[in-house]
Amino acid sequence: MTPMPLIFAATCDIAGKVRGKAFPADQLERRLTRGVGWVPTNVQINCFDGIGDSPFGSLGDLLLVPDPQAEVHQAFGAGVPEHFMLGDIVTLDGDPWDFCTRHILRTALARLHALSDARLLSAFEHEFQLKGGGLPYQGFGRAGFEAQRALQETLMGALHAAGLTPDSIMKEYGPNQFEVVIAPEIGLRAADAAVILRELTRSAARAAGEEATFAPILDTASVGNGVHIHLSFVDDAGKPLTYDPDGPCGMSKLTDGFAAGVLAYLPNIVALTAPSVISYERLTPHRWSAAYNNLGFRDREASLRICPVTAKEPTAIARQFNIEYRAADAAACPHLALAAVVHAGCQGIEDGLTAPAASQEDLSLLSPADLAARGFSRLPSSLPAALDAFEQSSIATGWFPKDFAPVYRAHKAAEIAYTADMDLEATCAAYAETY
Ligand code: GLU
Ligand code: MG
Repeated sequence: MTPMPLIFAATCDIAGKVRGKAFPADQLERRLTRGVGWVPTNVQINCFDGIGDSPFGSLGDLLLVPDPQAEVHQAFGAGVPEHFMLGDIVTLDGDPWDFCTRHILRTALARLHALSDARLLSAFEHEFQLKGGGLPYQGFGRAGFEAQRALQETLMGALHAAGLTPDSIMKEYGPNQFEVVIAPEIGLRAADAAVILRELTRSAARAAGEEATFAPILDTASVGNGVHIHLSFVDDAGKPLTYDPDGPCGMSKLTDGFAAGVLAYLPNIVALTAPSVISYERLTPHRWSAAYNNLGFRDREASLRICPVTAKEPTAIARQFNIEYRAADAAACPHLALAAVVHAGCQGIEDGLTAPAASQEDLSLLSPADLAARGFSRLPSSLPAALDAFEQSSIATGWFPKDFAPVYRAHKAAEIAYTADMDLEATCAAYAETY
């Protein structure tokens, strides 16, 4: 018997999980058009493998069509090579399916381009922890780094082999925590890259006899695992559009409007960018995550941060200049999180908003009344509150396909119900298992 090489056609679904089906590799050509069969109700499978109420029931058929632009094919150590392709979910007629997360992101990116002729460059910076423990608890330390050098070198090699551009990797501050950074990619590719990075991190960890988790927080007495999305804009010829030396904090008019929209709609979109029950344990003050809808100039306590540039020369500054969305985590499907941020930014551009001044103080010291008077709001402090805030904004729900909001609510309701009787520690442990 000779093993038959298989390719796994995958979607990163609204639970942020990579699911799909495999087919024999020699069928690839046919599968690139006909895909593999998929079922609408799969959209309601949550991160704990429960199924939320589904409007589709047992009805309907879809196709999951692999995209060779999002292919990973590589072996870890002596193991059998892993081979998967992210793809699109389409109807039997070949039209995009409303709940395909790649389609949802493409729609947002098309809106941005139609509004501003801009294309989005983005990079997802990920923190993760190894579950085994036992590393020297040494933020940024060399001993902790060296203890997992093999894992990190395998991961960076795997990212490179997958066509991504590794930037840096480190032993982060938290216990057994690491951070991996890749260079920005254009449009859809950036979200695909984030999914690929998570999968390759898990594979590299397994190859090293470890288990990696991207769960938003493992221990509420310690720091969380953030996903920070770096955003900048270029025109169709690749010319940077993000920076203007005379704009507020260096932001171009486009960046200013986009940032203003993101800040205005932040409370409405965190349900999509930080979508787990425990995400809201991370989104609290003094964790260097995000707790208010504030703009920060190089301030890591801000939800949206204007990042520093190291370049000195104006054209290089214009290329490097970027803003960072920090209220995201890896319970979110990168495509959905990015779509929410882009739509919020587009709304800001469309409505002619301008960003508030960057905050430079500890907002947790302000009373609710003072916060409101200054135009700040505390982000929702629980998943149910975040879902309410999403649903209460007909503008935000209107960015998504018609039945998206109720389907998303039902999906999350089943996830919330699953953890309802757990204490916080057990809830964190359940998320550490699934993400
Ligand atoms: N761990 C922090 C978070 O949850 C981020 C720390 C940092 O890299 O600035 O977002
Ligand atoms: Mg970090």
